[in-house]
Amino acid sequence: MVRMSARETASGLRAVARCDDLGVAPYSDADDHLFRPYLGAGHAATLDRIAAWMTEAGMTARVDAAGNIVGRYEGRHSDAPVLLIGSHVDSVRDGGRYDGMLGVMLGIETVAWFAERGHRFPFAIEVIGFGDEEGSRFPVSMLTSRAVAGVLGDQDLALADAAGVGLAEALDGFGLELARFAGAARHREDVLAYVEAHIEQGPVLEAEGHALGVVSAIAAQYRFRAVVTGVAGHAGTMAMRLRRDALAAAAEMVLAVERIGGAGPEDLVATVGRMEVGPGVPNVVPGAVTFSIDVRAGVGAVRDRAADEIRVALADIAARRTVGLDLTLQQDLPATPCDSGLSRLMAEAVRDVTGAEPRVLVSGAGHDAMVMARLAPVAMLFLRCRGGVSHHPAEAVEVDDAQTALEAMTAFVTRFEHTWSDAGPALTEEER
Ligand SMILES: [Zn+2]
Repeated sequence: MVRMSARETASGLRAVARCDDLGVAPYSDADDHLFRPYLGAGHAATLDRIAAWMTEAGMTARVDAAGNIVGRYEGRHSDAPVLLIGSHVDSVRDGGRYDGMLGVMLGIETVAWFAERGHRFPFAIEVIGFGDEEGSRFPVSMLTSRAVAGVLGDQDLALADAAGVGLAEALDGFGLELARFAGAARHREDVLAYVEAHIEQGPVLEAEGHALGVVSAIAAQYRFRAVVTGVAGHAGTMAMRLRRDALAAAAEMVLAVERIGGAGPEDLVATVGRMEVGPGVPNVVPGAVTFSIDVRAGVGAVRDRAADEIRVALADIAARRTVGLDLTLQQDLPATPCDSGLSRLMAEAVRDVTGAEPRVLVSGAGHDAMVMARLAPVAMLFLRCRGGVSHHPAEAVEVDDAQTALEAMTAFVTRFEHTWSDAGPALTEEER
């Protein structure tokens, strides 16, 4: 826990200290842990506090139609297009203080750094704190970045939380209207780019001794449900050679998933995270098992090939053990590549401040950037976090890393400005 220092200029320390400030009530809906769901009381208090910090940093602050906090640092001309910098302000239950929030705080520090130097750009900078990324209140996630990107589906707004409170009612508490929700959408021609700094939520940067990383893509994901059907029987009387044990078969399948996941590039991962055993009693040979399979990779084709291998391996195991196997695809999220031109600028910015060749990595976790990529080119900067721990109160970052990240963000914005001409950024068409 970092205590706020007397230092009142832009710094990584201040970004971290502010995340810590926001980690407790009244910025949390729980008294003894951090839980900041979308449109809760903690969210409201948080937006007031962030708005004050944005104003202090030289921005005008507003809450948009979807409940996102948006601070605008004007460009040299009032109707200039926008460079968006942001992340999310909501948390999971008993979450960490830096997941999402640190990216928002670093956005504010980035603007403050330039404002302290009196620097204006030929574009505006807006810092956005998305209200819902985690989906910890309503049964969807990234609702508010989808509103901003203009990619909401009709069914997205017919939502109620676990207590039966509808989205319309929750918005009403914020002075917002469901009918205007989709009006948070931004015009494509107004948004130059979206840049997000986020803790890695994984162990790679720490293990390899890098403070920062540049994200090349957000992984493609498949989620399957596998149902293995054997024959239940008495655990005392059914001879071993006559068994068709669904759980023993499933166990072999889990190991096959692990083996195939481990046989590809480092960003290929395959996980069985949930399993239900039927009937699930000690004295009955299991007759049916249902389990989940999650497969991710930075490149869709790599994920697809692994999923094909998993299908074949599981079918072989089922045939050899004479059990039934039913695989259902439940979720298919395509890979989201970050913009190559922006990522190159980010890599150069990281090199500017660290002097080292930047670590480039795939994000296995989803982020608002994957939604925002449907509106504008995106880039992501990862910060190392202690032990790779996230979605947990033990989440921690080093102040020095936050400072290095702030310096990389300001270097990025400076480089972004240099690519700019009256005709727009001097990126190739392919890079935009
Ligand atoms: Zn996050």
